[in-house]
Amino acid sequence: LKAAQDKLAEFLAAARHAVAFTGAGISTECGIPDFRSPGGLWTQNKPIPFDLFLAHRAARNEAWRRKFAMDAAFGGAVPGRGHRALAWLLAQGRLHGIITQNIDGLHQASGVPDDALVELHGNTTYATCLDCAQRYELDWVRTRFEAAGGHAPDCTACGGAVKTATVSFGQAMPEREMARAAALTQACDLFIVIGSSLVVYPAAGFPLRAKRQGARLVILNREPTDLDAVADLVVRAEIGDVLAPFAAADAAPA
Ligand code: NAD
Ligand code: ZN
Repeated sequence: LKAAQDKLAEFLAAARHAVAFTGAGISTECGIPDFRSPGGLWTQNKPIPFDLFLAHRAARNEAWRRKFAMDAAFGGAVPGRGHRALAWLLAQGRLHGIITQNIDGLHQASGVPDDALVELHGNTTYATCLDCAQRYELDWVRTRFEAAGGHAPDCTACGGAVKTATVSFGQAMPEREMARAAALTQACDLFIVIGSSLVVYPAAGFPLRAKRQGARLVILNREPTDLDAVADLVVRAEIGDVLAPFAAADAAPA
């Protein structure tokens, strides 16, 4: 572990433009399971594909039932050691941006400003109308959902479907966020993947783009990934254990 931390510290010190790319693995120590973990939360509350959400009222009701069930399970999650380390490195100017696949809002909660964060898959802490983009708070949706006996409310402005502000499977990627992620990737000389199985595209394409344009690639994940073979450093360990020393000035490796 120490050797991997030293190497990562050395790469960070040498980098002029370091970017972190995070996935569900950075939030598991906060109690939010990733897709692979056993236990079944995601199996019972699988995300509804976008085409079904659009096509059927029953699917929209079910999507909101699952969303509220997941919130009941881990709605109170707070940032973990990985989030705190990245926020600290950013504040120090040793990291230049974070691209995340996560929708849990924990990077913001750790103090990362919006202009340093790209949320490729959106955010599950609020909702929008799919037709007119009107924003709705979750409490507003939940109150109506419960009062109507499990029926999801429609947009009061236009009658459109109201959905969490996440990018569902089958839904188009947000252009602005994709462009911001591409710009960060293009400019970076160090790209650190943290807690992603690197199987969900197009998000998983960014590490390879970074490597191709000459950046060092670091992969921190407890399981192997498809890109381990091309990485400059692979750390197969617990994210919190590896990153904890980077979270405070006095403890940071030189
Ligand atoms: P994933 O579930 O496919 O992979 C997570 C990886 O992290 C796994 O390879 C796992 O071995 C590793 N991991 C888990 N905990 C770890 C730890 N403590 N230390 C080291 N490694 C650890 O996640 P993904 O690649 O992000 O893709 C899943 C998709 O699901 C994403 O699109 C994301 O939007 C969504 N998702 C988000 C959340 C969230 O917001 N917290 C949670 C689950 C899924
Ligand atoms: Zn609307």
